[in-house]
Amino acid sequence: MGERVRGLAAPFGFSTRHALLLKSADLLLKGAPMKKCYSCQETKPLPEYYKDKSRPDGVSSRCIVCDKAKRKAYYKINGSREREQNQKWKKENAEQHSKINCEWVKKNPEYKAREYKRRIATDPLYKFKRAIRISTYRCFSYVTEKKKRQCEHYLGTTWEKAKQHIEDQFVEGMNWSNHGEWHIDHIIPLANAKTEEDVIRLSHYTNLQPLWAIDNMKKGAR
Ligand SMILES: [Zn+2]
Repeated sequence: MGERVRGLAAPFGFSTRHALLLKSADLLLKGAPMKKCYSCQETKPLPEYYKDKSRPDGVSSRCIVCDKAKRKAYYKINGSREREQNQKWKKENAEQHSKINCEWVKKNPEYKAREYKRRIATDPLYKFKRAIRISTYRCFSYVTEKKKRQCEHYLGTTWEKAKQHIEDQFVEGMNWSNHGEWHIDHIIPLANAKTEEDVIRLSHYTNLQPLWAIDNMKKGAR
């Protein structure tokens, strides 16, 4: 709800709190049912309370603001214990947990894009894997329709070692945060592959090197 209210308020230069107050006033005018918050003693319209089916009136005894504050305070004290219990539940209910996760991701498509951006920016190994996967699978699909195996199989080593192999060849100025200015280059180009065996041979990690983008383009034009 917070996000939506902020969205409404932003173009008019109102603060979130101001927007919430306006929303309250609006609901009041429309004659929405009211309820006194057990905690802050303010009388607020029902939509400003979380739903709670265990209560006779179907909403929490505290308003959303107070509920959030209480939850925050509780978490500060019991955070680590709660996290532990959460982890335990996830372990014991792995299947159900993964199902809940999948459903949540489906309902929040923007999460995937945001998470992808975050990982690309913070996790070099992820970035490396992604670059390798894209080039290998693209090339693979040109030469065969056979089911692809894990990329690591074609690399001939672990992801970590292959990434290290690239780092060992870094020249001055190269690092993972400016990957893009340099490319992961196949010394003998993957484009030369005619058969599945060629792809496997050329995908081997010893055929990889970091190459400044400009040099890579020159190489491609050659
Ligand atoms: Zn309250």
